[in-house]
Amino acid sequence: MLYETSIQKANLIMTLRSMGITSDRVLSAIEYIPREIFLPSNFHSYAYQNNPLPIGFDQTISQPFIVATMTEALALQGNEIVLEIGTGSGYQASILSLMTRRVYSIERLKPLLVNAQACFKKLKLTNIISEEGDGFLGWPKLAPFDHIIITCAIKELDGRLLNQIRYNGICIAPVGDLNSGQRLKKITVKKNRSDDIWEDLGPVSFVPLISDKD
Ligand code: SAH
Repeated sequence: MLYETSIQKANLIMTLRSMGITSDRVLSAIEYIPREIFLPSNFHSYAYQNNPLPIGFDQTISQPFIVATMTEALALQGNEIVLEIGTGSGYQASILSLMTRRVYSIERLKPLLVNAQACFKKLKLTNIISEEGDGFLGWPKLAPFDHIIITCAIKELDGRLLNQIRYNGICIAPVGDLNSGQRLKKITVKKNRSDDIWEDLGPVSFVPLISDKD
């Protein structure tokens, strides 16, 4: 069983490399974190396939390639403070926690947050601070962050979140909705919003960000 898992993991890493992921730190983190523990038990055997999977409450754990792409885009050095909006299963936060100083993660659905926190504890990832809440407005009382990663699709990305990022920090987010389609955007934040650098990382399909304030 363990032997099989390590073969499946090695295959996944090879797939991610062949799709263009080059960061050894990202690939090592993906190899280290056991994705199966973030999944309902009936999906454990699919954990190392490069697919998104259901985690309950109509939510999904992202495809490993997307997790790798988003993590790589942050170009983490190891000492950053990152905010994640949409903890979900906790998998993305766990990958980030190995690569940076501290991860704050906010999730609106309590049962998912409780599961995610149990996983963080099991893996002894003590640098993740997660809370139940609406991430539509970010987490202003903890701002500024070095980077923000949004793992649910946001209709518009503007100053309310970008102003919570330090100068030269990065926001990575799926932007758009079901009608217009979603694109993964990387924004490098400058002093003035008009100087921000927007890059397009291609089409994606995320569950929507849901908020009363939207
Ligand atoms: N990063 C997750 C994937 C998350 S799926 C993982 O690694 O598994 C998107 C998550 O965003 C869902 O859990 C959903 O409940 C959450 N979400 C949606 N709108 C939100 C909001 N306004 N604030 C916080 N979380 C939100």
